[in-house]
Amino acid sequence: MAPQILIHCTSCGSSMLLAAHTLERPFAIPDEQPNDSFAVGIACRSCKSVRRYFLQFRHAENDLLGEEHEAEAQNEDTILVNTLGCEVDDCRFLLPLFAQWNPQATAEDRLADIQTWRWEGLRCPEGHPIPKPKPW
Ligand SMILES: [Zn+2]
Ligand SMILES: [Zn+2]
Repeated sequence: MAPQILIHCTSCGSSMLLAAHTLERPFAIPDEQPNDSFAVGIACRSCKSVRRYFLQFRHAENDLLGEEHEAEAQNEDTILVNTLGCEVDDCRFLLPLFAQWNPQATAEDRLADIQTWRWEGLRCPEGHPIPKPKPW
């Protein structure tokens, strides 16, 4: 089983097991990282809240966790859905956004699920709002 990262939703507390290699991929090339704090956005399957998390394995601040976890089998695929930009034009912060779906979910299923996500309070480290992408 590939390593997975255990994250607890900061809205509802449910646990999410995400494929580590998928979460780490946007940070693989040092000069092309979306942000330098190893921040990612994750949509919770239970409460649909989109929240910001820091990947703990490289992040000094320990307030949000991402323990490496040898997982029991899990059925959902971890998908990089989009890369979100900050509302402020000259802020370079980008947030890779991940979600999990059943492997059988179609593109329409995923889009319908995305419509139910809750975006309140998603911010970059400077405190600027990160809006829901326009095409959604
Ligand atoms: Zn949740
Ligand atoms: Zn910003």
